[in-house]
Amino acid sequence: MHFYCSCGNRISDITDFLSFKASFLADQDEDDYFGQVEQAVQDGLPAGSLLDVLAIQLPSRYLCRSMYQCPQCGNLFLEDTSGKLHEFVPKTSEAQGLLRSVEQEKWRGFLHGYWNDTPPSWSEHCGFIEINSNDTSLPGYLTFDERKNFEERYFELFETLKQRGLIRFAGLKINRDWLHRWSQGKGEQGNATP
Ligand SMILES: [Zn+2]
Repeated sequence: MHFYCSCGNRISDITDFLSFKASFLADQDEDDYFGQVEQAVQDGLPAGSLLDVLAIQLPSRYLCRSMYQCPQCGNLFLEDTSGKLHEFVPKTSEAQGLLRSVEQEKWRGFLHGYWNDTPPSWSEHCGFIEINSNDTSLPGYLTFDERKNFEERYFELFETLKQRGLIRFAGLKINRDWLHRWSQGKGEQGNATP
């Protein structure tokens, strides 16, 4: 989804790990939230990591709402219970980047590349690269139709982001098989020699 700030900036929420987005939980809902988490753990978690369960399957997730801060002007948007966003203007111009990670500059993100010889039903493209990092000048999402360009761009981005200390994980999947994987502290795995 996307929306426009009153300053004219287009705010786009189509990827994860956005530096200008956060979730909030009403103080009045806190007890219910942790109660539901506890119940889910007691019931035995479904397959998948705890993180997947919390993000996708646990109903208490829906007790959380979203807030955004316009990266251009600093205006804040809070979501109400019907999903509508309400815009607030900060009193000072210092209130920027309020919704970034507590790690601030040290936060490390992710690089993902996916290629399918047959484009998925939701796109006309075969290749996708998603970049989640602290460097907001980099594109968040790229599409490709030629595999050589796609792989070259992935490894070029991987080297740059790794050298700059901007990522904790990078992964490249070709037709659902891993061609390359790298994790901070664990190094590289995979069949590719970049
Ligand atoms: Zn704005």
